[in-house]
Amino acid sequence: MGIRIGMIGAGQIGEDHVRRVTEKISGAEIAAVASRRREPAEKVAAICGARVENSVDDLLAAKDIDAVIIASPSERHEEQVLAALQAGKQVFCEKPLAVTAEGCRRIVEAEARIGRRMIQVGFMRRYDQGYRQLRKAIESKEFGVPLMVHCAHRNIAPHGTFTTDMSVTQTAIHEIDVTRWLLDDDYASVQVIFPRQTSNTDGTVLRDPQMMILQTKSGVCINLEVYVNCRFGYDIQCEVVCENGVLRMPEPSNLLIRADAKRYTALETDWVLRFVEAYDVELQEWVEDMHAGILRGPSAWDGYVAAVTADALMAAQQSGAVQPVILGDCPAIYLK
Ligand code: NAP
Repeated sequence: MGIRIGMIGAGQIGEDHVRRVTEKISGAEIAAVASRRREPAEKVAAICGARVENSVDDLLAAKDIDAVIIASPSERHEEQVLAALQAGKQVFCEKPLAVTAEGCRRIVEAEARIGRRMIQVGFMRRYDQGYRQLRKAIESKEFGVPLMVHCAHRNIAPHGTFTTDMSVTQTAIHEIDVTRWLLDDDYASVQVIFPRQTSNTDGTVLRDPQMMILQTKSGVCINLEVYVNCRFGYDIQCEVVCENGVLRMPEPSNLLIRADAKRYTALETDWVLRFVEAYDVELQEWVEDMHAGILRGPSAWDGYVAAVTADALMAAQQSGAVQPVILGDCPAIYLK
């Protein structure tokens, strides 16, 4: 029997996930939708023939719902994840797990009290084929151990008001998670350097670009360029320097065009298209793992680690100094 999912939040990614569950993946269906306003919930529910619940509480109280996808605004995640756990539902929570490290820790503790994993966090890059190839090559140890990682996260321009700390919480957060997963190593410290600033933004609320440097406990050094006003495309790069070889993440395989005395390949313009397949695989594997009774995807602990690391990076933006990343004890349910 398929897993019956309740969708919380009927905005951009909520609608995408409803389409994904309905049209692309197997083993689950969207049974109900709850959002802040009824009209968007009805529009999204119409995609899949689901019912609309009057509130998140009603959705969580429904006996026929096995799991929820939380795609509400980030500020609502903590209360909704905790309420879903209380109601005994499996949870897929879009990133971030909570907007503060303390909030993530409260969720970790609530799940640890239950004694088994119930939560997966939406760090979808772990499901991208390019990152998966990188991880497999690192794991093989064929090229020696990793020493350094060079990453770039470039966006054309941010939507709305985008501030210096959002380069961490909205942008670098993906590399914070995926690089730790690639290396299977925790961060020891972080630092942020502001290079010459772009004239593509006036610099009043956003310092851009930023060079973030993270060092892992085993000493691997990661430099991450975050440049959210690059204007030319959505460009994600990752190169892992190992002892005896360099592993570069493959570029998306777009058409190579020869025309007008040029040879070129189009870049994506946003994350939606760049990672579309990763989102599909992410939800398909989450559903399969629920059927198998064991979650393997990004955990609440991973959400917590990302939040602690993000806090350290924001402190480093202010101080200019190297900041430690201090995690505390990891509950047994998250240990491999
Ligand atoms: P969005 O378009 O603003 O959608 C949020 C939806 O939640 C709206 O339908 C909103 O309704 C509804 N909502 C507001 N308060 C609510 C509440 N208390 N309970 C239930 N629903 C509520 O935002 P989005 O871009 O889809 O992002 C949603 C979440 O996904 C964010 O946390 C974001 O960080 C995350 N996200 C992750 C990725 C990724 O790469 N993994 C990508 C995009 C987004 P109203 O319109 O009535 O306010």
